[in-house]
Amino acid sequence: MSPSSPADAPAVHLAQFENSYVTLPERFYARVGPTPVAMPRLIQVNEQLAAELGIDVGGEDPATLAAVFSGNLIPAGAEPIALAYAGHQFGHFVPQLGDGRAILLGEVRDASGARRDIQLKGSGRTPFSRNGDGRAALGPVLREYLVSEAMHALGIPATRTLAAVTTGERIHREGLVPGAILTRIGASHVRVGTFEYFAARGDAEAVRLLADYAIDRHYPEVRSTAQPYLALLGAISERQALLIARWMLVGFIHGVMNTDNMVVSGETIDFGPCAFMDAFDPAAVFSSIDRNGRYAYANQPHAAQWNLARLAETLLSLLDPVPERAAELASEVLSRFSARVGEHWLAGMRAKLGLTTPRDDDSQFIEGFLERMHRGQADFTLTFRALCDAAATGEADARVRTLFASPIAYDEWAPAWRARLSVDAPDPAARSTAMRRVNPAFIPRNHRVEQAIVAAVEREDYSLFSRLLGVLSRPYADSQAFADYAIPPRPEERVTETFCGT
Ligand code: AMP
Ligand code: MG
Repeated sequence: MSPSSPADAPAVHLAQFENSYVTLPERFYARVGPTPVAMPRLIQVNEQLAAELGIDVGGEDPATLAAVFSGNLIPAGAEPIALAYAGHQFGHFVPQLGDGRAILLGEVRDASGARRDIQLKGSGRTPFSRNGDGRAALGPVLREYLVSEAMHALGIPATRTLAAVTTGERIHREGLVPGAILTRIGASHVRVGTFEYFAARGDAEAVRLLADYAIDRHYPEVRSTAQPYLALLGAISERQALLIARWMLVGFIHGVMNTDNMVVSGETIDFGPCAFMDAFDPAAVFSSIDRNGRYAYANQPHAAQWNLARLAETLLSLLDPVPERAAELASEVLSRFSARVGEHWLAGMRAKLGLTTPRDDDSQFIEGFLERMHRGQADFTLTFRALCDAAATGEADARVRTLFASPIAYDEWAPAWRARLSVDAPDPAARSTAMRRVNPAFIPRNHRVEQAIVAAVEREDYSLFSRLLGVLSRPYADSQAFADYAIPPRPEERVTETFCGT
């Protein structure tokens, strides 16, 4: 059985495809379709996102949608391909990775005119599958759905999830588990590892084509600069700096920041072993495969800079014909990176604390508070959310103090904070409201994600998943009905390790 073609099924019109990646040379990808699955069933389709993409899901029956989002039915205008890429995984270069279980159906323009990729993940083997089965398990698919959509709702650039389906097939992981397919929407899927793929082959022509493609698609403004490729490196670095700072500000730990999992568009991608921390801990690691803490919470700026250095290496010949000069130019850009992360982080932290006028000792003041949180095992999300109330009235201090193992850690700090607030933002209600917009009440806490996955995988009960997805779509709302979702896990609920499940 091969995917339906116009010959054996009426072509379904999903969206207006406008595919650009297929216009790149054949060595950028492999033309390959999804492998049909036994019995696709729709778990969830993201109607709001569909509308943004000009996809009328209301006009199709669930069976057709399940067929499309499982890859059993190829919509008109799609040109399925698997993309080639390489990558440094935990510091080790792998010259060929590529989409081993994902297929790019094509690109559409969203409501704002931006080009977006529609990709099926878990859609079967491709020439890049190596020893993998090309499939995805239900658990990780639900996890990616929840976390990617949560990131978006938090205001953090991320790939989105348009749909999830079960395949009606079981796949081998730790035992037999239900198979599923996720439809991922991305600004593109050009990775640092895509550049590395061609650079490692000495294919300078392809590197230049890819750089031009990235400029056209994501950074058209650099085209008119004196040094477009240098400006491209700078622009990609800047978006990464902002992205990493925003991860840090919500306690997000990506978990597998390999260069194949960093896209040049600046979106968060690959939600394998990611996690949000509960108690604040700079050394927090959840990923079961991150044995040495390479991608620990506080190491993320450094990891990103390391990845950008790998990107820079692929671009050197485009920066200057004299290798030494090219290296100097690239280093100059990279040397600014950690300061830029710090600046975005500091601005974000000030907002989280309700501070509006920068002062020289802000970094120290904030670090001091985080240090107290760390020692006091204070829950990162809940503490900042509780501070929103405390910013309005001292009575709310009672709540904040209880979040610290020894409440005196907060008592000692609070007076200095209050003194700052009274100068910076004199209106208590206004500062509290402003803080509520940057300190989420609801994050995809590991134990909640885990509970939703277990219910779905073991009992085919998707009610927890749907409920959690709903809660996460309004992270900054005050919602008494969902108050349970704002609280940290009880000791027996705690999830300390996450898996990529590939
Ligand atoms: P990831 O760990 O998800 O970032 O994937 C790293 C590489 O392994 C990518 O090239 C994936 O396409 C590939 N891969 C992961 N899981 C599978 C699978 N089940 N079958 C084939 N390829 C896979
Ligand atoms: Mg990946």
